[in-house]
Amino acid sequence: MRKLLIAALLVLSCCGCSLRSSELSTTFFAMDTIMDLKIYSENEEALTNAENEIKRIDALFDRGNPESEIFKINSEKNAIVSEETAALIKNTVSLSERTNGAFDITTAPLSDLWGFYGGSFRVPSDSEISKTLKNIGYGQIKIDGSTVSIPEGFSVDLGGIAKGYASDRAVKVLRDCGVSSAIISLGGNVHALGSKPDGTAWNVGITDPFDKSSLTGSVNVRDKAVVTSGGYQRYFEQDGVKYHHIIDPKTGKSADSRLSSVTIIADSGTTADALSTALFVMGLDKSAELWRQSGGFEAVFVDTNGSVYVTAGIADSFKSEQKFSIIK
Ligand code: AMP
Ligand code: MG
Repeated sequence: MRKLLIAALLVLSCCGCSLRSSELSTTFFAMDTIMDLKIYSENEEALTNAENEIKRIDALFDRGNPESEIFKINSEKNAIVSEETAALIKNTVSLSERTNGAFDITTAPLSDLWGFYGGSFRVPSDSEISKTLKNIGYGQIKIDGSTVSIPEGFSVDLGGIAKGYASDRAVKVLRDCGVSSAIISLGGNVHALGSKPDGTAWNVGITDPFDKSSLTGSVNVRDKAVVTSGGYQRYFEQDGVKYHHIIDPKTGKSADSRLSSVTIIADSGTTADALSTALFVMGLDKSAELWRQSGGFEAVFVDTNGSVYVTAGIADSFKSEQKFSIIK
């Protein structure tokens, strides 16, 4: 009896200690946002490595950092960069092609003009916008091995894709360290590694674009990135009009596609991040067409009236107290 009691106590204390020590987390600031990594493992080194990897990517791509490779491209216009940077820029060009130019990293001069980059918000004149539009166009990016060139007057900004790329890299680092269950949130770019420690799917909330303190719904996922773009995330208001940070590269103005947010669910954080930005620009109908034609992702759309649309592949995993339509 005594032996049994001791055995039971041992089991209890072991479960207790393994529960306490098997969840590790870190919160830090990078890429202009708060990042939160939670792993279900006792491998502290894995967590540190993942955090360092995100900080490395931030330093590589931050266009405001004179040490970064994006700063180098923007200032030299013809720059030799790492294979990694050249490869990601090449990937952004194919994503631009796939979205018919809705995703375009050369929109940087427009973000500057409107003050979304730098923070001195203002509504520019139409002539300023048309002048700036002459220096926009992903088709002008030339990549030759590790040399990236852009014309005079052009600049590039990876703000629409960098967090997604960082989440892919962080997940890879964690996996390589043997971590099989983790959830990371890079300023709202969520990436789920594996399942929850109890084997069930992760439940990722989707922010209500009309009330940031509530949720429109949530999706159950395993091994997926869940990335939201929305006009509510960064904007300024002038004379009763809201101007937000997602630019339509064709008009040079905040995208006006009757959407309030787009959430993309995909295997790759990089793809999910670029597509969330692009589909926000494209609007519901063109986005649904892209989904039907190319697939490889699922999406949740909230339009400016608050109606919710969910692509068929994720409909069963989407939970909401609101009515929603299924895109087929
Ligand atoms: P996200 O929050 O991922 O939708 O990305 C928005 C950020 O991407 C902005 O703050 C800009 O840095 C950049 N951006 C804005 N419009 C575009 C666009 N049409 N294509 C690519 N990047 C963009
Ligand atoms: Mg994005």
